[in-house]
Amino acid sequence: MRIGFGYDVHRLVEGRRLILCGVEIPHEKGLLGHSDADVAVHALMDAILGALALGDIGKLFPDTDAKYKDADSMKLLAQVVEIMEKNGFALGNLDITITAEKPKLSPFIMKMRENLAAAFSCDISKVSVKATTEEGLGLAGNGIGAYAVVMLEAGN
Ligand code: MG
Repeated sequence: MRIGFGYDVHRLVEGRRLILCGVEIPHEKGLLGHSDADVAVHALMDAILGALALGDIGKLFPDTDAKYKDADSMKLLAQVVEIMEKNGFALGNLDITITAEKPKLSPFIMKMRENLAAAFSCDISKVSVKATTEEGLGLAGNGIGAYAVVMLEAGN
């Protein structure tokens, strides 16, 4: 078994869509980034690559490459899942914590879990997504962060 950890943060700005785990969330601001800035999926991909000791998404999908402008992060995740499988690993389980002051994410958590379970073709019981505020002490509404851990199982 291998474990991996990932962390990412993006700034909230006006005029951008807010997408988390492939779910578009109605909000007056969205996350700024070269791709669709899906911070939760970015943290998750880094956790998978970390478990495999294969670097990070900055190395795999450089933001200097125009190909990844406004890229759908769920499609990038599909590529990372493929790399995981080619290396002989399958998902044991994953756990993501998203930190956001606003908006309230609880209504969207189940859809996020469904999207990720579909990306791994796994049971939803292996996929946990949680959200918390930082009590105004952390990014304080200027951004959204995400932490992800994964357990990968060999022999697949
Ligand atoms: Mg990112």
